Amino acid sequence: MNLFKILPIFFLFFIACSSKPEIILNEIEQNENLIITTTNENKYVNFNFPKNFNANDTIINQELKKFSKKINYFELLNTQDSSFVNKIYSYFNKENQHPYRMFELNLSDTSKQVKFKIDSNKIHLLQQILQDDKTYINKKEIELIDDFSYIEDGQLLFPCPNIEIPLSLNLLPNASRKYRSGIHQGIDFAGNYDSEVRSVFDGVIIRSDLDYYEVSNEFRNDLLKKASIIQRTPSDIFVNILYGRTVMIDHGFSFTKDKRIISIYAHLSKINPKIKVGKNISRGDIIGNVGNSGTSDGAKGNRKSAHLHFELIIQDKNGERYLGKNIYNEELLKLLNRVFSHK
Ligand SMILES: [Zn+2]
Repeated sequence: MNLFKILPIFFLFFIACSSKPEIILNEIEQNENLIITTTNENKYVNFNFPKNFNANDTIINQELKKFSKKINYFELLNTQDSSFVNKIYSYFNKENQHPYRMFELNLSDTSKQVKFKIDSNKIHLLQQILQDDKTYINKKEIELIDDFSYIEDGQLLFPCPNIEIPLSLNLLPNASRKYRSGIHQGIDFAGNYDSEVRSVFDGVIIRSDLDYYEVSNEFRNDLLKKASIIQRTPSDIFVNILYGRTVMIDHGFSFTKDKRIISIYAHLSKINPKIKVGKNISRGDIIGNVGNSGTSDGAKGNRKSAHLHFELIIQDKNGERYLGKNIYNEELLKLLNRVFSHK
């Protein structure tokens, strides 16, 4: 084995060892149902409670606010500027604001454990906003602070009648998709093969694969091999092949004036012949039927693993992102259940 092969291994070993947070238990709060532990000077806060205890957001946010007041921002931001640090404290003093982000959720039969850690991206973004350095606020930071609040409660119709948001995180946005070296940008709705799919909102049809035919499994696998070499899903492979038989709808600026929103319905088995590019469509109109086109089962010609892959893409002057990007676990489920309705 030559030195160039060994060096990266040492490097990875070093990274693995050095990035582990040093856990120093420095505070324990307890009431009969809720046990809170914090580590590393309140940089990590863990909540432990019985499964049947209703630890709602208000309780958790109140507790996180308490701990956020004890954070040493001078050290965290490496600054001596006390007026600036005071601005940060007062920002996080506002209702519903705290510097933490949930990063782990553990459920057992009897208890629930939710772990939060300081969201350094949020704090550094805030630092730049307070210093009014707008050039720093690039695409990535805008994505990090998008909470999709411009989509009203129940504004989107569930695309498959009577099918709810799946509970498995693997079927939701941000899940990893190893087979194509990518990230899942949508929601996989568990509709049966050939069950109806409908438009989530009024709009104009911008793609309708009425003349779709399935590619061979060999061709599909060959494209996936190319994706694995470049370690990401290239947009052409994703949009032209992996989506399968697809409809896309442009909802324009109907949600909010500076954001264009489109919806994507992939892996369809059939498309309603009336769904033609350029035609208007209303919320609830039938687009087509659930299928598995574009998947490996579709390419093999069977009806296994049928589902609707649905995406909502938001575009603005800073770029584009999918509904749910950078939102995880319970917060993600809450967001998706908030924006969809069956009526
Ligand atoms: Zn999917």
